[in-house]
Amino acid sequence: MSPSLIDWEAGRAFLGRSFLMSVETAEKRIALTFDDGPDPGNTPKLLDLLASKEIVATFFLVGKKVRRHGDLAVGIHRAGHHIGNHGYHHFPFTVLPNRLVVSELRRTSDAIAGATGVAPRFVRPPMGWFSTRVLELFRLARLRPVLGNVYPRDSARPGADVIARRILRNVTPGSIVILHDGGWRPRIDRSQTLEAVDRVTDVLGADGYRFDTLPGLIEAARSAKSAKE
Ligand SMILES: [Zn+2]
Repeated sequence: MSPSLIDWEAGRAFLGRSFLMSVETAEKRIALTFDDGPDPGNTPKLLDLLASKEIVATFFLVGKKVRRHGDLAVGIHRAGHHIGNHGYHHFPFTVLPNRLVVSELRRTSDAIAGATGVAPRFVRPPMGWFSTRVLELFRLARLRPVLGNVYPRDSARPGADVIARRILRNVTPGSIVILHDGGWRPRIDRSQTLEAVDRVTDVLGADGYRFDTLPGLIEAARSAKSAKE
């Protein structure tokens, strides 16, 4: 993910035309999303944490890692979380020719569907890099592009306090929060992210917030809207 566009108001408006950034709702509901897994060091601990709080989330998985850790992808799916496509090698799509972008998307979707039986419907491009060409390839692959509107930059590991503060400062009803349970390097430690998630879910939960998968958040917003009409 590139923070610059998300942190800049005009950039957000531009992104909002191409990506799902947040869901319009008055209800206190948000979606936590985790990129770059499945990771054998962090994902099981995160799954335990979410299970202990009866929280469901969305995981944007890297295809190559799904091939290597299929059991973790199955664990994520069985726990009721939603799984999206985050590319096969985590190469930025903008530097790849069309046929390789198509292959990155297809191989990842195949790996996820092979492990869980469910093909992804959402894509988050590696590093958040995209172009109109890449967006058109998402459309052809029937994958809905998603970024998010709360980006605490946990991947840089600024400390659990900072991550938690950035989330709490920016969350509003319908927010999509971008977090990481994996990373570029193997065996990267995401304990700061886990600690921040533990704290913010307590604080937000006490404030009346519920946590949904992406399709759950979209569906809840849709039914709240039609109930009002
Ligand atoms: Zn990523």
